[in-house]
Amino acid sequence: MITVTKSYIPSLDDYTVYLEKIWQSGQLTNNGSLCQQLEHDIANYLGVANLELVSNGTLAIQLAIKALNLQGEIITTPYSYVATTSSILWEGCKPVFVDIENHSFCINSELIERAITEKTSAILATHVYGYPCDVIKIQQIADKYKLKVIYDAAHAFGVKLAGKSILQYGDCSTLSFHATKLFHTAEGGAVISRNGEVAKRVFLMKKFGHVGEDDYLDIGINAKMSELHAAMGLCVLPKVNDIIAYRRMVSKLYDSGLEGLELISPKVAQGLEYNYAYYPVVFPSYNDMMRVRQALIDGGIMPRRYFYPSLNTLPYLSIERQSSCPVSENIASRVLCLPLYFGLEQQDVHKICKIVIEAMV
Ligand SMILES: *Cc1c(COP(=O)(O)O)cnc(C)c1O
Repeated sequence: MITVTKSYIPSLDDYTVYLEKIWQSGQLTNNGSLCQQLEHDIANYLGVANLELVSNGTLAIQLAIKALNLQGEIITTPYSYVATTSSILWEGCKPVFVDIENHSFCINSELIERAITEKTSAILATHVYGYPCDVIKIQQIADKYKLKVIYDAAHAFGVKLAGKSILQYGDCSTLSFHATKLFHTAEGGAVISRNGEVAKRVFLMKKFGHVGEDDYLDIGINAKMSELHAAMGLCVLPKVNDIIAYRRMVSKLYDSGLEGLELISPKVAQGLEYNYAYYPVVFPSYNDMMRVRQALIDGGIMPRRYFYPSLNTLPYLSIERQSSCPVSENIASRVLCLPLYFGLEQQDVHKICKIVIEAMV
């Protein structure tokens, strides 16, 4: 069985070296030395400041919302993983969906202004599949209306635009280091803040607002990363360039193997240094997608309908929130992500292409 993704598993010997350090120190969590080292190494690798490790990518979004004091309405994308929307609701704010662009699959910045009301506090957009949002235009709108900007950058580890990390845009960017992601710590995540004061607030909030012995300076939650998770990250990080290079190779194989088929994928922006986080393909119709999906499943291959459903149609949204986002709904109904991971065999990629081609004719 070939799944859409497979976690990169480091060598047990590498992991054991870190376990021995943990056994020596006796420290399992609470910002131990491995967590500090990983925080430093990731910030360095990504070229960003003010990075706070947290226990997962969903709490990263929730902490960013809290640390920026967001209330009321948050303008967001319907085309993302469910955590982008559910975090807004979980924090007691209202998601206002703005449809996506046909070419990037990210929020359509041309449609944002008309969704702004006096209750709007922020824009929360996803660099979906690692393809950047229109960060310049979004910042212009945010400046004009005094809104905060959060990017759900769960897919954007290592992505650069014109030589600059995409994570440097917006007030906060959030990362997920879930086991299925390109870089992972089994479970984990991070918040990157433009402003040092916001980063300090995230730092406090992820540990109950607790400082020293008896001081509780801010309302908080438990979103700390453990030393065991940090150890996993320290093993995976040195391999991340190899992981990206491998995924690039597989993506190019798909590009040539599927050439000539009537498939759509996001267009690459100018000056983009991509991370090959996903290989999404949009079929001409829902029926084509379902036929190919069944053929793949019959061949022992598990693609995923990332991202379906369009989040503006989630059943737990009130009817008034279920605004119409035709582009997102349309793409969500026809998209599949093909298997893409470090170590996926070339012959399997050829097999997947063959099944797709045969099911398309
Ligand atoms: C994976 C993911 C998340 C959630 O991250 P977790 O670490 O699993 O909590 C949030 N947003 C997007 C876009 C994701 O893909």
